[in-house]
Amino acid sequence: LAAKMAHDLGNAVVLGAPVRSIEQDDAGVVVTTAKGHWRARRVIVTAPPPLASRIVYTPALPALRDGLTQRMPLGCVIKVHVAYARPFWREAGYTGQVLSDRTVFGPWFDHSPLHGSTGGLVGFLCGGPAQQWADRPAADRRAQVLKDIAIYFGDAALTPIDYIEEVWTKAPLHRGGYVASPTPGVMTAFWPALREPVGRIHWSGTETAGAWVGYIEGAIRSGERAADEVAGKL
Ligand SMILES: Cc1cc2nc3c(=O)[nH]c(=O)nc-3n(C[C@H](O)[C@H](O)[C@H](O)COP(=O)(O)OP(=O)(O)OC[C@H]3O[C@@H](n4cnc5c(N)ncnc54)[C@H](O)[C@@H]3O)c2cc1C
Repeated sequence: LAAKMAHDLGNAVVLGAPVRSIEQDDAGVVVTTAKGHWRARRVIVTAPPPLASRIVYTPALPALRDGLTQRMPLGCVIKVHVAYARPFWREAGYTGQVLSDRTVFGPWFDHSPLHGSTGGLVGFLCGGPAQQWADRPAADRRAQVLKDIAIYFGDAALTPIDYIEEVWTKAPLHRGGYVASPTPGVMTAFWPALREPVGRIHWSGTETAGAWVGYIEGAIRSGERAADEVAGKL
């Protein structure tokens, strides 16, 4: 979906250019990145609140907005894909789905093609255990993942044809997942600042959605709401 939209937008999409600062005055905004400056009448910030707070704003944001973004941490999650020549667990009568407290990584789900032309398992590690494993060497995580899967599905699990992981906490422009959540007291004291534009700066992203917060559906809904907001001002 994102790739198709980016394709249609052509050169308007600039990748690898993290926004460092946003200045606004009566005439418009200036967005500064390592790849240059962009001038516009208005800007929509779609980064999750804790990452939006790393951008330098001039003039400074209202205390309520800044306070909100200091109080919405991202969770910690590691996602792992393990590929096999075939979904061998199905041959043993297993679904490939595992939820257990016997191993480090999990839950696991079978995400092989329906007809089993190749095999794939997708698994997650969340919260405290993910925090502990985020800074371990990648080879240690891989070894533990395979050891865990082998407990459920046997030694065939030890020889995947591919292995891909993402430690979301360590991704420089993500710093966690699945979503930034408000800490206690934030919804009663800071919530109006979640969506309220600050001058020419508008806020979008799944955290600002009215429904499906934390999901792509929420991100899309919030994008539509922010686009309408800006269109109404132009
Ligand atoms: C492991 C994992 C599994 C998930 N599984 C599902 C699922 O199955 N179904 C589902 O619906 N949702 C799932 N989600 C949640 C889903 O990914 C998010 O809800 C969705 O991506 C939010 O979209 P967004 O546009 O609000 O934010 P993001 O996708 O986080 O996009 C924000 C963007 O802002 C960029 N950014 C940050 N700072 C700056 C900056 N200073 N300058 C420029 N760009 C910046 C980031 O690089 C990022 O690309 C999952 C999330 C994770 C982490």
